[in-house]
Amino acid sequence: MKLHSVHTGNFKLDGGAMFGVVPKSIWNKLNPADDNNLCSWAMRCLLIEEGNRLILVDNGIGNKQDAKFMGHYYLHGDDSLDGSLHKLGVSRDDITDVFLTHLHFDHCGGSIVREGDKLVPAFKKATYWSNLRHWEWATQPNEREKASFLKDNILPIEQSGQLKFVEPTDGIIFSTHISIRFVNGHTDAMMLPQIRYKDRTIVFMADLLPSAGHIPLPYVMAYDMFPLTTLQEKKSFLTEAVENDYILFFEHDPVHECCTLQMTEKGIRHKDTFRLADV
Ligand SMILES: [Zn+2]
Repeated sequence: MKLHSVHTGNFKLDGGAMFGVVPKSIWNKLNPADDNNLCSWAMRCLLIEEGNRLILVDNGIGNKQDAKFMGHYYLHGDDSLDGSLHKLGVSRDDITDVFLTHLHFDHCGGSIVREGDKLVPAFKKATYWSNLRHWEWATQPNEREKASFLKDNILPIEQSGQLKFVEPTDGIIFSTHISIRFVNGHTDAMMLPQIRYKDRTIVFMADLLPSAGHIPLPYVMAYDMFPLTTLQEKKSFLTEAVENDYILFFEHDPVHECCTLQMTEKGIRHKDTFRLADV
């Protein structure tokens, strides 16, 4: 079993939306905004080699959206999904499983590519994993979340016949070393893989905790559908994580890949930050 961080590039999102009720005078020290109030965020995915499976967890924003759409997100940095896979000696056709934490465009945009005038799976031999509850949520979106669920990212997966659903049951076993934690505050039925690796538990945080800066409880994104649910989910996750010395893997933190936690007089905070390769 081996884990690899897969950088698919950086994008920008409004700092206020990312930090919710936290004032800019505070969050701007964590992730300084540009002149348009936008902060830089990573789109960092995870490749899991387990037995004869190669499991890719999320896949970034992709490259098939038009210039107008991409113009809102200021993609930057040298990394790309294909480039990062290539560095690991992996081609798209080697991927056996694509695990989608949820169907927001910055997590699943790399699932589908444009071939001529067709939209087809980028990973031709892979099974794409979601769950029925989130799938229905994403394909019949509410007006507030609609802009994050792009039909081009979602419908071609189903049409390809490569889509499978896991049971939306918390703690469900996905594979020998991977179980799934379900959370519902950010969006309905988001899936966080919890991976046993080198006698540790690594949790892929997706959008429950997009960055190390989001560890303090009130740091809940304004994007979240149910912020008080996120608050509860953060509390119970952070308590469990500090007790069991989990390693948190951040999808969006522009600097830190991983951290451990400690209890302080202010509450639970990060302890050490490090790269996945150093685990
Ligand atoms: Zn999201």
